[in-house]
Amino acid sequence: MNEGDKRTVSKMIEIYCKKKHHTHNSLCPDCSNLRLYAYQRLDRCHFGENKPLCQSCPIHCYHPDMRARIQGVMKFSGPRMIFYAPMLTFRHLLGILKPRKALISREKRKQDL
Ligand SMILES: [Zn+2]
Repeated sequence: MNEGDKRTVSKMIEIYCKKKHHTHNSLCPDCSNLRLYAYQRLDRCHFGENKPLCQSCPIHCYHPDMRARIQGVMKFSGPRMIFYAPMLTFRHLLGILKPRKALISREKRKQDL
């Protein structure tokens, strides 16, 4: 279930760990914990096969701590995924960019009023 999402999240954590923690070919203990946690969340996702993007999911199943960490990873690795794993990227990039865009246009509308 959600194998594509697992591949994406795993790749993102790999990129993050390599660049931030200067590891080679394996994750540091912190990042492997994070990956394990992300896998568990995916496996237990309430929505199963119809899982919405985590960014737009109404149920925030991540522990706030882990959520902050995975968000850090996605922010860092999301843009880099274009170079490392273009095929995996688009769904997640769209998920990351969309809410931000919506927010900006909402803010803009507020200013226009
Ligand atoms: Zn790491």
